Amino acid sequence: MLNLASLCFPDDQKSCFYCCPPIRDPEADPLDNIEERRAMLRRNRKAINDNITLGQEISGESCWGLGFLDDEEKQAGCLLHPLRHNGKDLRNLTGYQFKCANALCREAMVFAELNPDEQNFCLSLCLDMDSFAYSSRSNPLMRLLAWETMMVQLIIIDAQENRKPFLAEYGFLWQTLDFRLDGYLAFETARKKGIDFLRHNLDHYISLRNALIDELKKLTDDPSFRTSGDRALIPAHRLEIPFALSRLLKFGAGLWELPATEAELILNKTEETLEKILLY
Ligand code: SF4
Ligand code: SF4
Repeated sequence: MLNLASLCFPDDQKSCFYCCPPIRDPEADPLDNIEERRAMLRRNRKAINDNITLGQEISGESCWGLGFLDDEEKQAGCLLHPLRHNGKDLRNLTGYQFKCANALCREAMVFAELNPDEQNFCLSLCLDMDSFAYSSRSNPLMRLLAWETMMVQLIIIDAQENRKPFLAEYGFLWQTLDFRLDGYLAFETARKKGIDFLRHNLDHYISLRNALIDELKKLTDDPSFRTSGDRALIPAHRLEIPFALSRLLKFGAGLWELPATEAELILNKTEETLEKILLY
């Protein structure tokens, strides 16, 4: 069963408001211009009844419906949500009700797949944060949840066993690695040899991962790569390879579309790389 409420609203001291409005600049972060944002959340809370009467469509960067949810200015969120209006959904006043109601970040989806013990561990990383730090994508929890669920679970087990400072021990996952490139290789390495092995052999791992990317880029040099017929191109995520590996193809090698027949070759090259990584 989905348990999203606890990631969006982990406790009564904070909430996440990162996905509001759903049409904002995706690079914008709640910690940018924090005092301006705080003033905006305060202003919106104060003016909500007048703004509801006006009912203006939002245009992009901000939403007049996003405000502090309490007088102490601890939690921030949607002042137009049906839970605040006896079931009446006022988000349609902004013109983006459908997008608002369906906004669900990847981190929340991964969080929902964790068991309660794993979820509690995740939330324990954020106990002292306010809503701004918690909502930020520099929040280590959000960085952790950017990885595939099985990798997140592996990390949580490791962290619970070792009881070491999370940032110091696992910061390499986003400071040195990139979940889009390393979702498959790093997970397989950690699964087979442990997180410690990955952490202590990062240079070796990265040089082999980059060599694989360079090899994959060369696939397009083959003249038969872009011929039609049974070698018609399909999106990378539809190849018969793990989804995490298709992200390496896209974000690492720039291969967004490939012939389906390349799947076996890609898997072989990847397995060869993995063997070399594990041999170290
Ligand atoms: S960004 Fe994700 S965690 Fe934050 S409120 Fe939106 S769905 Fe919830
Ligand atoms: S209407 Fe509510 S959910 Fe939609 S962008 Fe505004 S504050 Fe966020």
